[in-house]
Formats: sequence, C-alpha cells, structure tokens
Amino acid sequence: MYQVSRVLYNGLVNSIQIKDKIFYFEIVRKPIRSIRLKLVDKNTFEVGCSRWVFTREIKNFIENNKDWIYKNSGKMIKKVNFSRLEELEVLGKKWLIGKRTKKEVEKILREAAKKVIKGELKKIENIDYGRVSIKNQKTRLGSCSGKNNLNFNWQIILFPYDKFMHIIYHEVAHLTEKNHGKKFWELVASYDKNWKENRKWLKTEGLKRIIF
Ligand SMILES: [Zn+2]
Repeated sequence: MYQVSRVLYNGLVNSIQIKDKIFYFEIVRKPIRSIRLKLVDKNTFEVGCSRWVFTREIKNFIENNKDWIYKNSGKMIKKVNFSRLEELEVLGKKWLIGKRTKKEVEKILREAAKKVIKGELKKIENIDYGRVSIKNQKTRLGSCSGKNNLNFNWQIILFPYDKFMHIIYHEVAHLTEKNHGKKFWELVASYDKNWKENRKWLKTEGLKRIIF
C-alpha cells in the first residue's frame, strides 16, 4: 500500500516569487524516483518526490524550472479543488472546513445563509416582502419576484460582508422599484453609500467566489 505523506516545507506554507508573481507550493512525498512538478492552478504547484530528497535539491529543482512554471501557470484556469481547501471566507471571516465533505459544508453554509439573510432583512425598516428563498443558481445572486418574494443565492455568504449586504439592498430596492431606473439606484444608494464600489467588485470578483 502506498502511503502519501504531506510534508510542508519548514512547517510553513511554501511560497516563492517568480518575476511579478507569488506562487504557493506543496511538497508531496511519495515513492517515486524522480522529482515531479505539477501545476495545480495559476499560482499553485506541487512538487512530488521521495522522502529521501533533500530540501536543497527541491529548491534547485524549482529554481531550474522557474521559467517553465511562470510561463505555463498563465495558461491554467483557476479551478477550485475542494479537497485542497482548508478554509473558506464566510462574510469576511475565516471559517475552517476541517474534515467535512463538500456536501456537508454546503449544508452548513446554506443553513447559515438562510439565517443571516433573514436576520438582515428584519433589520431593514419599512419594507414589506413575501417569501424568502435560498437558492443555488450559477450566475444569479439574488432576485425579487413580481409578488415581492425574495430569492438569494446562498453562496453570497462567501463574499465580504459589505458586498453581501449590497446584494440584499439591491433586491430590497426592487420591492419598491422593479426596474433599474434612476429612482432604483437612488434607493440603493440610500441603503448603501458605497454602492458603486460594491457593484463594481461584484461584477469582477463575484462569480469567482461561486464555487459550489
Ligand atoms: Zn436588479
């Protein structure tokens, strides 16, 4: 039986700067003769080697392959490998995943999202809404129906708190203003003074955090 032990360089997360980019890497000890390099995503790689290889040799190996790493990492599409994730950012705070499976994590966070979203809605004065549903749509973060039922993607709790609130305010504004006219944005601004910035962040960063 093969046993793969995961040893971290000096007990720390390894990182190396190559030109203008910082790379994170892990040394994976396994019963192989050569040293192998594997790109994980655009700023992470793995070095596989036997337990007998010295740190110095690994360093030299990385040094000799620097250009290759730099060039080829640019071609990698960032894909979140859940089994490699140790923590998630939930409303801007680190949350340790522990030994939970993706399904378990989703269940916990989905419940948490429901509770937090309902709690935040209750704090907003003078609004009247129907049902609140928590969904998981790949590209939609929130919506408000004609009957004023509110829907939210549970994964918005993976955003920083102000961005999360911006989505809630956006849908709350739709309770009064159905379209995205001038009055709508004035209403959004009355709830969220940084609405422009938050909206911009969501456009560029938002979907990257939808990982489930
Ligand atoms: Zn809208």
